[in-house]
Amino acid sequence: MGLHFDVEATTTPTSAERLAEILANPGFGRAFTDHMAVAKWSADEGWYEASVQAYAPLPMDPATQVFHYAQAIFEGFKAYAQPDGTIATFRPEANGARFRRSAARMALPELPVEDFVAAADALIRTDAAWVPTAEGTSLYLRPFMMATEVGLGVRPAREVTFLVIASPSAAYFAGGAKQVTIWLSEDFTRAAPGGTGAAKCAGNYAASLIAQQEAIANGCEQVLFLDAVERRWVEEFGGMNVWFVLDDGTLVTPELTGSILEGITRESIIALAKDLGRDVEERRVDVDEWRKGVDTGRITEVFACGTAAVISSIGALRWHGGEVAMPTETPVADQIRDTLIGIQHGRLPDPHGWLHRIG
Ligand SMILES: *Cc1c(COP(=O)(O)O)cnc(C)c1O
Repeated sequence: MGLHFDVEATTTPTSAERLAEILANPGFGRAFTDHMAVAKWSADEGWYEASVQAYAPLPMDPATQVFHYAQAIFEGFKAYAQPDGTIATFRPEANGARFRRSAARMALPELPVEDFVAAADALIRTDAAWVPTAEGTSLYLRPFMMATEVGLGVRPAREVTFLVIASPSAAYFAGGAKQVTIWLSEDFTRAAPGGTGAAKCAGNYAASLIAQQEAIANGCEQVLFLDAVERRWVEEFGGMNVWFVLDDGTLVTPELTGSILEGITRESIIALAKDLGRDVEERRVDVDEWRKGVDTGRITEVFACGTAAVISSIGALRWHGGEVAMPTETPVADQIRDTLIGIQHGRLPDPHGWLHRIG
């Protein structure tokens, strides 16, 4: 029997006026809904005390393990208002399955996928009024799990908390998709063989922030990480996977090596591109293939993909002492973006059954 998330409604709901204000300009990850889903786990009892309750700060002992040893994972996916007035999430089971894989890597308990989906569904149902309806907007779901046992001994926690919070999200690029400039990180790597690169764990992001800082200092928006061993194979951006478009229309993305995060957007694009009659290659890509391929015309577009921004097309790759600029026409990225967003918003057919209706 799966977990049941009982709803204990907040006694201080957001006013209709304030909610309308938030939904008119939600930004990203700034405003949170009135409730959160919570479940606890202990090594002795397993999962217990599942509920949807008022969104509130968590009282925590300063010696709580997660603060010290970062045994924490998270997920991100979106709920979209559908043309018929219902709400649907995009591939939540895939996020639930990845959450289990991340948990296994970080020695956290594996929450069953049905409980992961049930937690998000219960929260979305409770805060349905928070799902924005304007084109490109969504309700961003952020499930996460952390070690909440108190004590400084270094070992897998015997007490863990799972939560889901939700935040209305604007169309990522208000005013059209602008091309982003990428900083090639030559001094820092994101993930090494045998490390945690394929797990969606909090620590990966902490480790990537210094490279992100360097990118901003050099006028770039995002970082490109190379493999940690040879420092030459393209892995991914700080929080998005990478795609190349070749002059014959083929789509190429780095193959999964264990140090690349298995993006659900990446996987969806592989299926979509095939539906659209395109060849897809998953293989290693040398960063010099990118640099030279643009000059020879072999590479015609590069784009990033992930849940938050869906698809952002890359305008330039910059590094210490050099830069290569990409063409400004991005017909393939535009086609993939329109198709994916069309499916998510229920405007296009959903041949793979990716939408999960919230009853
Ligand atoms: C979450 C994430 C992605 C994108 O995954 P999606 O499932 O497509 O959102 C890519 N890289 C990293 C490092 C990530 O954490």
